[in-house]
Amino acid sequence: GNPILEVRDLQKHFHLGGGKTLKAVDKLNISIGRGETFGLVGESGCGKSTAGRTIIRLYEATGGEVLFNGENVHKLRGNKLQEFRRHMQMVFQDPYASLNPRMTVGNIIAEGLDIHGLADGKQRKQRVSELLNAVGLNEEHASRFPHEFSGGQRQRIGIARALAIEPQFIIADEPISALDVSVQAQVVNLFKKLQKERGLTYLFIAHDLAMVKHISDRIGVMYLGKLVEVTTSEELYANPLHPYTQSLLSAIPIPDPEVERTRERIILEGEIPSPLNPPSGCPFRTRCPKAMPECAASMPEFKEVQPGHFTACHLY
Ligand code: SF4
Ligand code: MG
Repeated sequence: GNPILEVRDLQKHFHLGGGKTLKAVDKLNISIGRGETFGLVGESGCGKSTAGRTIIRLYEATGGEVLFNGENVHKLRGNKLQEFRRHMQMVFQDPYASLNPRMTVGNIIAEGLDIHGLADGKQRKQRVSELLNAVGLNEEHASRFPHEFSGGQRQRIGIARALAIEPQFIIADEPISALDVSVQAQVVNLFKKLQKERGLTYLFIAHDLAMVKHISDRIGVMYLGKLVEVTTSEELYANPLHPYTQSLLSAIPIPDPEVERTRERIILEGEIPSPLNPPSGCPFRTRCPKAMPECAASMPEFKEVQPGHFTACHLY
């Protein structure tokens, strides 16, 4: 069927003082099918959160378009914009900062219901209980405050809040990065369970490939505001094409100690260049172990080099 979300040449440039432009998101193209999970991965500062915030229109785009169910999100006004806000919700990275400490958990979760006038009284209370149960908490938690909960529980509250108005699409911006490793898998499993029960579509943002492995159908890897590789999850782990993806994968420890001992690590040299002053040609060339003279001369095109497997690199 038609994709639920299509991002076309999306651009978010910030104009800073002194004629400087920060190209936080530069010509991003992503298409996500209904019920799919698309993992968006990259180091901090690569533009992945900005991309998420521009897609959901917390930020206005400076170029390109975002089509949600075929409608251009950045052109929506009035009722249409309200309606879009019901269908797409965000779960934030920091479950400590994103919940108002002075509101009860019940009121936090019901905020969307209140804003959109979807339920009150007994019905509202019942919806809150259902949502708490759906995320593995219970109705007694509704009268408590965020500080009474652990990080993992707070993220469950954040997820319940996002679910309250029954969105079709959730952008989860590093939802497990701030959590203890021991609870990360539980929260990922919760996302999977909710997706199955509710037919949700996810854009799941993370800073390393290990975090998206078990949830993503397809994965996009970003570097300095651009996508460098997109393919299915299995294909990306089995056959990474872009040297940057190869280096990210080589940084993930392998459970088998024998394999771990003998395999080669790709250690990248140098720091990520400033996005204010990206290198000419391929943005990865200053750290790429395979860089060639042509990499400085021209920007590699993002293209399909194997069926369903896209990358931007002069090697292909
Ligand atoms: Fe490396 Fe060149 Fe490919 Fe860029 S285009 S990733 S510098 S080989
Ligand atoms: Mg971020």
